Amino acid sequence: MTQEQYCSGCGAAIQTDDPKKIGFAPEAALKRETVLCKRCFRLNHYNEVPDVQLSDEDFLNMLETISHTNALVVKIVDIFDFTGSWVPGVRRFAGNNDVMLVGNKLDLLPQSFNQDKLLKWMRFMSNQAGLKPIDVQLISAEKGTHIKELAALIDNYRDGKDVYIVGSTNVGKSTFLNQLIQTFAGDDDTGITASQYPGTTLNFIEIPLDDEQSIYDTPGVINPQQMAHFVNADDLKVITPRKEVKAKIHQLNEGQTLFFGGLARLDFVKGGFCPFVSYVSNELYIHRTKTENAEALYHNHLGELLSPPSDTDMWTGLIRHDFKIKEKNTDIVVSGLGWITVKEAGVTVSVHAPKGVGVSVRRSIIKG
Ligand code: GDP
Repeated sequence: MTQEQYCSGCGAAIQTDDPKKIGFAPEAALKRETVLCKRCFRLNHYNEVPDVQLSDEDFLNMLETISHTNALVVKIVDIFDFTGSWVPGVRRFAGNNDVMLVGNKLDLLPQSFNQDKLLKWMRFMSNQAGLKPIDVQLISAEKGTHIKELAALIDNYRDGKDVYIVGSTNVGKSTFLNQLIQTFAGDDDTGITASQYPGTTLNFIEIPLDDEQSIYDTPGVINPQQMAHFVNADDLKVITPRKEVKAKIHQLNEGQTLFFGGLARLDFVKGGFCPFVSYVSNELYIHRTKTENAEALYHNHLGELLSPPSDTDMWTGLIRHDFKIKEKNTDIVVSGLGWITVKEAGVTVSVHAPKGVGVSVRRSIIKG
């Protein structure tokens, strides 16, 4: 490129190097009279809201502008990976604006889960993270579950104001917005009448509502602690649940180990006997063994019996996190892989996961 060009849709500087980053356009597009980045092109032509990735700094600068507006902020999290998809700092960026919390991918959780308890749990987790949402709602953007209710709630809370949708990448923001646009274009029942033809302002995607106001889609922030960054595309398909996750119960004795493919490992170090309930993709193989054999097994069978990872050349191994479980029904979360509910208090476990993958304990999602 000789001279810097800007997207006539969103104003981003056009670049041709990285399709995942903002302002990307293929070379051929630069010859057109009106130059649009790929994101704006797809928006204009296919009515789709595609993803772009921004650096943390760009993202934070962008979010910052929300605090200067009078708007409703709708924060979307992936209910299957609550901590991993939690964009920190939203309280600050929202300024004085109300924040509504939405848990997406409800369809992945076992149907036996009580939704009232889930909502209570979301509030609890949110408060712990320093955010007091004006309301919480569960949806499945993919299945269309509770979308109408959410649209009506948004319309109620926005009270004539603009709406900003924030969330980390992969929480299902695009699916939700496309669903909203498609389902509610011209539908008056919910209050929201999203335009079929979103436009763009600056770096936000703007979807005009039926009056002067708009819904703004902000780019997803990337959470580097998710397992997704450590596996290849094929393995990602194995670990990403596509349908309702079945709880898998293992009654373990002290000195036993569970392998989750070769991506994570749980050792029951101390505590006699305890049930462990795993909530991971149904396709992920869980292998039980004696802890004393675990190292050798890992060494000899990684990439085969213990797979994913299917490709072990670049694999750097696992590091250990130790936990003393204080309360019955505590979840140990491996970000992006799922969680294991430890049914008893007073037990000691070690969880091994790739370096950089978030491993944490939390009040169990089944407790509410
Ligand atoms: P974005 O990065 O936040 O815009 O997320 P996308 O809308 O692109 O969705 C990310 C992934 O999650 C895609 O594979 C979607 O198919 C999937 N997804 C989105 N919403 C749901 C949902 O409600 N349930 C399930 N199971 N998957 C979903």
